[in-house]
Amino acid sequence: MDDTDNSMVTVRDALEYASGALREEGIDTPMLDARLLLARAMGRDMLWLVTHENTCLTDTEAARFNRSMTERLAHRPVAYITGVKEFYGRSFRVTEGVLIPRPDTETAVEAVLEYADRYAGQVRILDLCCGSGAIGLSVAASLPRCYVTLSDISRTAIDVTVQNASLLGTDNCEIIQSDLFEDLPPMSYDIIVSNPPYVSGDEMGTLSAEIQLWEPREALYGGVDGLSFYRQIISEAPGMFRNRGTLIMEIGFDQARDVEKLLKDAGYEDISFKNDLAGIPRVVCAGHSGASRGELL
Ligand code: GLN
Repeated sequence: MDDTDNSMVTVRDALEYASGALREEGIDTPMLDARLLLARAMGRDMLWLVTHENTCLTDTEAARFNRSMTERLAHRPVAYITGVKEFYGRSFRVTEGVLIPRPDTETAVEAVLEYADRYAGQVRILDLCCGSGAIGLSVAASLPRCYVTLSDISRTAIDVTVQNASLLGTDNCEIIQSDLFEDLPPMSYDIIVSNPPYVSGDEMGTLSAEIQLWEPREALYGGVDGLSFYRQIISEAPGMFRNRGTLIMEIGFDQARDVEKLLKDAGYEDISFKNDLAGIPRVVCAGHSGASRGELL
């Protein structure tokens, strides 16, 4: 009965009310968020909403929409409410405990695909600090001739990545829980890609309420100066390359010079940067001849 008995609230009314409330709460993209949440509450996509503005919500849909609005008004990110986030043309499952994939991070995927061309045969790729698996699984799905290892210290990240690999049907990958390189085999990879935690102590307090209240601190905080993970990855990656390797990392908006210096000091060559959608150097790529067996012993 409930589902046929409608609430007399139309799609247009619901969007108007919800976007107004979200705007008042200081949320950046009120209409987009209202549409995403209403589409989900009604089991439709956003295009359907545009063409059905006069359709009334059923009571069940209205109740579901109200519940998600309450969460959004508490600054819970839309992706955690809906449980999905689009990344590089695919849908990824996300839950609290993993960072929500950002559009800027697609730059890292593009860099990996570009560098993979330089390797013949099967390209072995490691996505270190994989979170939801967005980078590594996008690469695996886009490039059948590669084999991707995805790893993260967090159990939640590993569980979510396993789910995403199965949702996307990617089988040219493996998923291993590890604290950075600790439980991974040395001298194994051609390309190592990482979006490590890189937010500095000072910047942590300036992040939006969405991030500070809801996203995992362990995926964001990169030590007092934000560079801790880069130091460790840069120093240990050479021992993980099977031959000449490429290290590709996402960096914070003001970290290009510092990370470039760390790379140079550690003997990396051909250092280059790729800009994000805002024109800021967001991804660094660098080559290394790899550690000789002697150095490893
Ligand atoms: N870019 C993310 C942010 O703005 C930080 C991601 C990270 O630390 N790897 O919050």
